[in-house]
Amino acid sequence: MKYISTRGGMTPLEFSDILLEGLAPDGGLAMPEQLPQVSAETLESWRGLPYADLAFEVLSLFATDIPADDLRRLTRAAYSQQTFNSEDIVPLRPLDGGLSLLGLSEGPTLAFKDMAMQFLGQVFEYVLAQRGTTLNIVGATSGDTGSAAEYALRGKQGVAVFMLSPQGRMSAFQRAQMYSLQDENIHNIAVHGVFDEAQDIVKALAGDLAFKTKYRLGAVNSINWARIAAQVVYYFHGWLRATSKAGEQVSFAVPSGNFGNILSGHIARSMGLPIRRLVLATNENNVLEEFFRTGVYRPRPAKQTYATSSPSMDISRASNFERFVFDLVGRDAARVKELWAGMARDGSFDLSALKPQFEERYGFVSGASSHEDRLATIRSVYDETGVLIDPHTADGVKVAREFVEPGVPMLVLETALPAKFSETIEEALGRPATPPGNLADLESLPQRVEIMDCDVAAVRRFIEAHAKV
Ligand SMILES: *Cc1c(COP(=O)(O)O)cnc(C)c1O
Repeated sequence: MKYISTRGGMTPLEFSDILLEGLAPDGGLAMPEQLPQVSAETLESWRGLPYADLAFEVLSLFATDIPADDLRRLTRAAYSQQTFNSEDIVPLRPLDGGLSLLGLSEGPTLAFKDMAMQFLGQVFEYVLAQRGTTLNIVGATSGDTGSAAEYALRGKQGVAVFMLSPQGRMSAFQRAQMYSLQDENIHNIAVHGVFDEAQDIVKALAGDLAFKTKYRLGAVNSINWARIAAQVVYYFHGWLRATSKAGEQVSFAVPSGNFGNILSGHIARSMGLPIRRLVLATNENNVLEEFFRTGVYRPRPAKQTYATSSPSMDISRASNFERFVFDLVGRDAARVKELWAGMARDGSFDLSALKPQFEERYGFVSGASSHEDRLATIRSVYDETGVLIDPHTADGVKVAREFVEPGVPMLVLETALPAKFSETIEEALGRPATPPGNLADLESLPQRVEIMDCDVAAVRRFIEAHAKV
């Protein structure tokens, strides 16, 4: 399996080559040259596999340059019961009205980012050791991605993490999660500023090619193909758990921001998994919902991005969307290039001519949710089933209810646990959500964080002093 760029300007590369890269050299994103197909027979032979072994089967179709024995070891290390709080790794729990919850948040940071990051941590360490090199990950986070990356890479050989966060802007629980890590290769840097300013520092450092090359800066952002591939696994797992025989159809509802999670569903469906609908749910930041409703993609600037009570979906420029558009326009890289050039010029592009295909050919439907919807959904799910869901998952449930069909199981992806966003739970139910028992005293642990001004030079000096060489 070789990987090409959505904009056509990259020599085909292996999985391990694109693993350590961000954007393709032409500004596009890596995609498999051809998607592997999984027959109904093969799919049935996977029934009953433990999660780690299913992950091996699926990922071996993408990581064809990693020997099978090694890859099996990596998936077993990534998806172990020591790391995940559930014997199933990804449990399936029934709600009511034909809906079930696919539990993607049993990992160490209580959000679905762990599903991909735990694999990324293993495969990074493996490929760096093979190549005898090191990597310094520099990123900015407003919460979920940074902590998932730190928990996946803590203590790993050959890699250090420098994670910038906005001082005083994360929840007490999120701060405690990140800042309580004492591993020597994990560096938390809190800057006096907002997330966008932290992100600007990262961009400035990555844009300094001499610095980037000398210190081998890397990223773990959501455009990383290995993350998308690792997420494909749980769509197969969910389908296998929700069905009993070949050919049965299942729909998935996905709380969406950067289009990474649901893109993995699109890939699974394109590989032959019998998915009926992919239900895309947004919050008030509804750029993607608008696209699937109208065919016009119009990203919004940071100023027009609302701060909502499902904050991990407060995104108005979906970095993985280009991969879906690549398929939508028949994998015509020149067309993709043209669309993105048009967007840079006009602020939007119009694919309404292809609108009939969104649902008929690709299974996509969409809906949006508001703060009031979120609170009402948390309340109604709790009253009707006794299950407490987080605000992002609530957006998924709200929109899933609009598209559920008799006889077709609707799996809502649970993208975080409620304890992570306890304030909103308190607003909905009048009482906070408690963290799992093993994390009860997290906020009382000693914290380790470097506090700095928003100063590129200061951050650069810190990295120079602490980087892996
Ligand atoms: C990242 C995140 C999302 C959005 O996922 P995308 O892959 O960016 O679409 C939704 N919910 C939670 C809790 C997240 O952390």
